Amino acid sequence: MRYRFLRFPEGKAKALTLSYDDGCKQDIRFVEILNRYGIKCTFNHNCDRMHKTYVIPTETVKELFLDHGHEIAIHGDMHRANGSLRPLDGIRDVLECRLELEKKYGRIIRGMAYPDTGITYLENGTDFGMIRQYLKELDVAYARTLGGDNDSFRLPADWHAWMPTAHHNNPKLDEYMDKFLSADRSPNVYHARRGPMLFYLWGHAYEFDHNKNWDLAEKICEKMGNNPEIWYATNMEIYEYVNAYRSLVISADEALVYNPSLQTVFFDVDGVPYSVKPGQTLRIE
Ligand SMILES: [Zn+2]
Repeated sequence: MRYRFLRFPEGKAKALTLSYDDGCKQDIRFVEILNRYGIKCTFNHNCDRMHKTYVIPTETVKELFLDHGHEIAIHGDMHRANGSLRPLDGIRDVLECRLELEKKYGRIIRGMAYPDTGITYLENGTDFGMIRQYLKELDVAYARTLGGDNDSFRLPADWHAWMPTAHHNNPKLDEYMDKFLSADRSPNVYHARRGPMLFYLWGHAYEFDHNKNWDLAEKICEKMGNNPEIWYATNMEIYEYVNAYRSLVISADEALVYNPSLQTVFFDVDGVPYSVKPGQTLRIE
């Protein structure tokens, strides 16, 4: 038996993803900072009629966000917490948001961040099992939750309850970033501790305005950005890559690895790096 661990593209052990909510005008200032540091973010949007005056023009979203490889994701048509809605209302809130965003941006949109208190409170006859079920039926690939900041840097066990590492106001943020950046995933480390690490930061760009701390956004990006050891990806890119890895087909004796996905997949077997191209069957010595 060997230990096999996912590695992100180019064999990297670490990845950073961001998730910022509500699609307010401050996202424009924020994305300009992100673009300078090569950091990717998923921006979670509501429907236009909620925003009215401060919605970002569609062309601006295309030019500044989508053309730079950022993701637009669902954040509820009317920004209602799914845990507080009857399943029927939750379905409408998600589906109407998805339909509007797909029409507006001319692309498939199936990532999501739960709006408001999300699934923190369960009321009005709903439960998490029902929510997860209808999200799957609505073909929502993943949904970000909140309220459980931690420094485990794990990939999500449940894509529909994807717990971030931290909100940018978390007082331990700097400590978490240091731990992430200094962690060693080389073959020198005890084998069971060589798993991949994902740092997932979330928040609202307008908070930098409200708290007058745009310097924090700059500091975070300076610390975490432009680092050749880190893969910068949107939430959906993480989802698709991890699923490509999890779809690898492996012979019973672990000698052959077949990649049925459309992405080159990287992994580490007992400290030895491998990559397997789409459609390729690789022999592990
Ligand atoms: Zn929100």
